[in-house]
Amino acid sequence: MIKHKAIMIGAGLANMASAVYLIQEGHWDGSAITFYGIDDHGSNDGSAADEQAADYWNKNHPLENTMGYVARGGRMLNYRTYVDLMDLLSRVPSVTEPNMTAAEDTKDFDAKHPTFDKARLLRRGEGIVNAGKLGLDNMDRMLLTKLVMMPEKDEERLDNVTIADYFRDDPHMFTTNFWYMWETTFAFRTQSSAQELRRYMHQMLFEFTQIEHLVGVNRTRYNQYESIMLPLIEYLKKAGVRFEFGKIVSDWQFRDSPMQDEITVTGLELTDAKTGQNSHVAVDGDTAVIFTNGSITDSATLGDFNTPAHENMDYGISAALWKKAATRFYNLGNPDKFFADRNASEWVSFTLTTKDHTLLNEITRITTQVPGNALNSFLSVAPVSEAGKPDVNMSIVVHHQPHFVSQKANETVIWGYFLYPRRTGEFVAKPYIEMTGKEMTQELIGQLSMVDPGPVNIRDKEQAIMDSVVNCIPVYMPYASALFNNRAKSDRPLVIPEHSTNLAFTGEFVEQPYQMIFTEQSAVRSGEIAAYHFAGIPMSRLVKTPYYDKDIPTLLRATRKMFA
Ligand SMILES: Cc1cc2nc3c(=O)[nH]c(=O)nc-3n(C[C@H](O)[C@H](O)[C@H](O)COP(=O)(O)OP(=O)(O)OC[C@H]3O[C@@H](n4cnc5c(N)ncnc54)[C@H](O)[C@@H]3O)c2cc1C
Repeated sequence: MIKHKAIMIGAGLANMASAVYLIQEGHWDGSAITFYGIDDHGSNDGSAADEQAADYWNKNHPLENTMGYVARGGRMLNYRTYVDLMDLLSRVPSVTEPNMTAAEDTKDFDAKHPTFDKARLLRRGEGIVNAGKLGLDNMDRMLLTKLVMMPEKDEERLDNVTIADYFRDDPHMFTTNFWYMWETTFAFRTQSSAQELRRYMHQMLFEFTQIEHLVGVNRTRYNQYESIMLPLIEYLKKAGVRFEFGKIVSDWQFRDSPMQDEITVTGLELTDAKTGQNSHVAVDGDTAVIFTNGSITDSATLGDFNTPAHENMDYGISAALWKKAATRFYNLGNPDKFFADRNASEWVSFTLTTKDHTLLNEITRITTQVPGNALNSFLSVAPVSEAGKPDVNMSIVVHHQPHFVSQKANETVIWGYFLYPRRTGEFVAKPYIEMTGKEMTQELIGQLSMVDPGPVNIRDKEQAIMDSVVNCIPVYMPYASALFNNRAKSDRPLVIPEHSTNLAFTGEFVEQPYQMIFTEQSAVRSGEIAAYHFAGIPMSRLVKTPYYDKDIPTLLRATRKMFA
């Protein structure tokens, strides 16, 4: 249904993408588009900590120590698969590199700093693990092959099946290098959806063949906010798009229809995040409403060097609005599947800023690689998983430095995460979720000391490293893996649900054919679909999706790799 105006609920990547396509492909005037969002970055953050200290999602526990930098997540991209993201970035100028588009900026940086991970897995007493040996046995291979062979039309057979369920007769799978790398590269947990694992085994099949070196992984020059979001924001502002930040869209008005199934938004309730004041926005018949119905960083909180990140029990603001729509209309999915099981979705991450490169140089020595190349995961030797098996304790990403435009030459910024935040540290005897930034730094030094090839040990420099810390900011994200939670196909709305006249859903909690989620790619694709729908552009003009799972050489390489 063609419209000429749009209201965007949520100012993340998906809706920014939608706005760019409406302007460039739909030939809309920017002034026809209004954003209402809690902030200007969504999950794609990255800035000096003092800029995020007062953010809404940290409102219950404002940051005391605002030194250093913070990014709640690291980012790995993949040009070959992220075709919609790259198309989007080719449409807007970089904000840091003159005369380059944001896509050229990323490609230029990535070509000069290609990823070749030499220390993907590390185990105490052993050091760098030979992770090229995936360690799969026949049962593992058979079950993985079944996922690769399962066609999309049969996906519903994996409705409400967790990864643990799928491999229930094969506990060996969870002790393989393949699993340790797959779970930490993509953030799958054993409680996650087997349906989604199947999607990854299809869309990321070629990555399977090079998983130990992360060769296909591409990275932006700086953090996601400065390299991806700011170019979009600047472009849209110049095009006349209106942004209202600090606003929560808290309720809907829908038109009544005889069968109660027509989805037509006629009004929105807004709540000012600072003052709590409510206001009303009328939505006329010529206006599309494009809603990002879930954010994995909603209700996140920050700590600092001496304070753990407190747990915020708020239901996500995006999911709360989704729930109101899903309560009224039967075909809009089931938000509780994703937002009412923190045990399956939570993680803790941290951003560590130091004022010299002592720690960076020690990590370079221990992992034998320069900054910018790696995701390093530290394996336990003790049983830590629910199934009583060893597992990855923590992972770090040592970015190419600087990772922030304003970062000083003498500063280092490192990001890391704990996929299972209730597990207890090996060097600091408390659950990761309860650790301060200082304790997380100690835990990291402890892990590094156990894989240090010597003859000197990083422990000899522990005091110097601790003295160099500007800040280490723990971040608790109750919904970080929520998008992977166990689900049925009908638990997520379509981008354009049946009977909708003006409402579209975008982001990571929508059902789109083939697309795997937890990717910048699927978020952009959903926004593009919504834009094409409302601008009346044929879907045949969407960016073409590559199908590596149908490519015989890729399939052969993957088969060979399973025997490594
Ligand atoms: C820790 C972490 C690591 C990641 N790593 C990678 C990676 O390596 N590679 C990769 O491709 N992707 C990665 N991602 C995922 C990537 O960030 C997301 O795919 C992308 O940001 C999704 O964009 P979005 O616009 O759908 O949602 P978001 O970025 O979450 O933005 C949506 C925004 O809309 C707001 N909103 C929604 N409803 C309302 C409302 N009612 N009122 C006001 N505001 C509202 C939300 O609060 C949020 O701010 C990672 C994410 C995290 C958190």
